[in-house]
Amino acid sequence: MSIEATIMGYFHEYDAKARALYPAYAARPIPKVTFFAKGRTNGWAKYGSWEVKFNTHNASQVPEEFRNTVSHEIAHMVDYALRGRSGHDRIWKAIHRTLGGTGTRCSQYGITVKRGRVKNEYLYRNAAGAEVWCGPKHHAAMRRGKIEGIRIRSGEKFMPSDWTGKHRTLS
Ligand SMILES: [Zn+2]
Repeated sequence: MSIEATIMGYFHEYDAKARALYPAYAARPIPKVTFFAKGRTNGWAKYGSWEVKFNTHNASQVPEEFRNTVSHEIAHMVDYALRGRSGHDRIWKAIHRTLGGTGTRCSQYGITVKRGRVKNEYLYRNAAGAEVWCGPKHHAAMRRGKIEGIRIRSGEKFMPSDWTGKHRTLS
């Protein structure tokens, strides 16, 4: 299956879930889905053109994790349908979680692949269930006790003991 087809599969799954849960979203047309293949951003929600855009290059690196990107952007569309605006605040987070997402912002689980360079990332999960893939610098600093923990822009904190033991290699 092509990566576009995989993304469309996720999209229809989360769009249907959102329509069942949120009448204000269900009253709107199904968003247009478009693709791009460059840069670090995994996805965008564009309210004016009622469109969601996904990075096929990043998606192809870790297809299963891209579910979170798709539900992330749909949560923005739902949020916009409900409030006429959207951010990464508590309301958006709550919506994202009802769709099965982690409630983390775009860049935080961002797949920051540099072509030709191998990068290890380490999965942390805190007591609240939030997850983040941590880069090698922060991971090493946490393992060595040089930093007490990290805080991501959504406000979630992760302690050295939150490391799941899982890591992945992006290349
Ligand atoms: Zn976002």
